[in-house]
Amino acid sequence: MRRIRVLDSVTVNKIAAGEVVESPASVVKELVENSLDAGSQHITVEIEGGGIERIAVRDDGCGMSPEDAVAAFLRHSTSKITAIEDLSSISTLGFRGEALASISAVSRVEMTTRERGSPEGTRIVVQAGKMSTCDPVGCPEGTAIVVSDLFSNVPARRKFLKGPQAEKARCIDIAMRFALVRTEVGFMVRSEGETRIECPSGEDLRSRAASVLGVKTAKGMRDLGPLDCGIARVHGLTSLPWDTRSNSAGITISVSGRVVRNRSLVEAIRSGYGRKLMKGRYPLSVISIDIPADRTDVNIHPTKDLIKFSDEPSVLRCLERAVGRALFGGPPGPVAERAPRQGPKGTPALEPARVRPSTTPRQVPIIEGEVRPNEAPTDQWEDVPVIEGLAKLPPALPENASNLRLRIIGQLDRSYILCELGSDLVLVDQHAAHERVRLEALRAKHAGPTFPVQELIEPIVMDMDPSAIAALSSLSEGLRSLGFAMEGFGKGSLMVTGLPSFMGRIEGQGVLLDLAGAGDPHEGCGPPDPAFLPESVPMKDRVINLTACRGAIKAHQQLSLNEMEQLMGDLLKCEVPLHCAHGRPTMIRLPMSALERWFKRVL
Ligand code: ADP
Ligand code: MG
Repeated sequence: MRRIRVLDSVTVNKIAAGEVVESPASVVKELVENSLDAGSQHITVEIEGGGIERIAVRDDGCGMSPEDAVAAFLRHSTSKITAIEDLSSISTLGFRGEALASISAVSRVEMTTRERGSPEGTRIVVQAGKMSTCDPVGCPEGTAIVVSDLFSNVPARRKFLKGPQAEKARCIDIAMRFALVRTEVGFMVRSEGETRIECPSGEDLRSRAASVLGVKTAKGMRDLGPLDCGIARVHGLTSLPWDTRSNSAGITISVSGRVVRNRSLVEAIRSGYGRKLMKGRYPLSVISIDIPADRTDVNIHPTKDLIKFSDEPSVLRCLERAVGRALFGGPPGPVAERAPRQGPKGTPALEPARVRPSTTPRQVPIIEGEVRPNEAPTDQWEDVPVIEGLAKLPPALPENASNLRLRIIGQLDRSYILCELGSDLVLVDQHAAHERVRLEALRAKHAGPTFPVQELIEPIVMDMDPSAIAALSSLSEGLRSLGFAMEGFGKGSLMVTGLPSFMGRIEGQGVLLDLAGAGDPHEGCGPPDPAFLPESVPMKDRVINLTACRGAIKAHQQLSLNEMEQLMGDLLKCEVPLHCAHGRPTMIRLPMSALERWFKRVL
């Protein structure tokens, strides 16, 4: 028979460590949190072997007395709360008193610490939960903790670690989030001897974002708030709607200085973008929410990064509204003090998004893993790397694009207009673009149910095969009210005596062929999309769509700079600038981040 036993403290700590310490990144998190709680001005994080071999965190915080240094390793030892009531007013990141106990149960921890104003420091070594050294030592004020050989005594845990590369990325990710959130503190993060983050204390958020995320990424973000909704105050930075990622990794949210994970908050940010955000896409955001401690509960998970709000709907609304204002305008500041959507003289204050081309030197931004060059070309000419996954590129432009400043670079293959948008490359299909411009112009001009007829002085005789003629005859009723006058002209021919007044002879002929299903897949349009203009589309709309296409600039047609500028100007004024009448894209944006990846400037 097995007997029930109370486990010894080493075993208890080893088991409990699983909750707090699941990976090197969680060690980084706990140690940096302790350094922040110690009131540090500057924190250095060093990672080796993905953090599995070694993690060192140094700070210039308050340090510990020799007695506290020993006590710090005991489970449930904390200087931050004394009773459960304190939790409702907690201002520190830690409070459970289990991080050091847990970490030291599953690794080797060496701590040197000197309390501010004390002449001497303390050095303690704890290995697999057992203290082996505790000596006085000379060291700077503050605390340095080195964690090595993580999980070497818990093989089961170690097996669950990803490779050093992945663990390293997670460590840097968490450090980056702290750096983004705690701008008052200076950070230095080094991994495998390489400096990854270096930022001074006391930066403003925008400069901090530039130091952490890269100048270019930071430049592309809009100021969010501060917005005071009574229950919460929100401020931060958030990307423009087309600067997105396929997951929420680019979103850093902090609640009262604590980096948190929370799905509802992420969704609230997304809904602030309204329909501007494509399905399945997430913006890049750094958002702080300040809320009184008694309105939140962080004690719902040992890692303290999940959070509950006593009035979640209000917090979510506030966040959504702050994001919406950042993107679409509206006054910042307290909601109550100003009327929400009014400018000074009752004029609408909603301002469309505006993009300013960046002029600063580029820095490596965080890269989306979407566009990957083919690996290792074998023959230098045959295997020039091809970009995959173009369909997954970010949307070329926001829907409301009239204020974008695109600089035209030139024409490619006399078919595509190349433009610079910030530092991204935008490729525009000149035919599709002109088709869209014509479509919207025609629609606006011919809003009535019928088109006026223009009698042709010289009729057009079209030679067609019998099935095409039959198809057109079946449509002739509807076509007559739209300005087409036709009659049979012997076997295999059709005579057109009138066309809608806005249509030229060649266009008219093309449109009729298209309607008869006999149109050639003409220049620029490619094979017709089966979903394009199904029977259900009213005849009038079909005629306008086809006219827009038939009359548009073709591929392989030389354009002057003026013509390209005119076309792009017209296109950006369109209601739906991103798609031609056939629903194909008019333009594609190749982000600098993709190019940099492609050229292996960044990996
Ligand atoms: P908690 O942070 O929940 O209090 P920890 O196990 O993380 O628990 O730390 C235990 C205690 O050790 C803390 O309450 C704090 O007093 C002390 N401590 C830990 N790290 C530091 C540090 N870097 N500087 C000063 N004190 C520290
Ligand atoms: Mg702690």
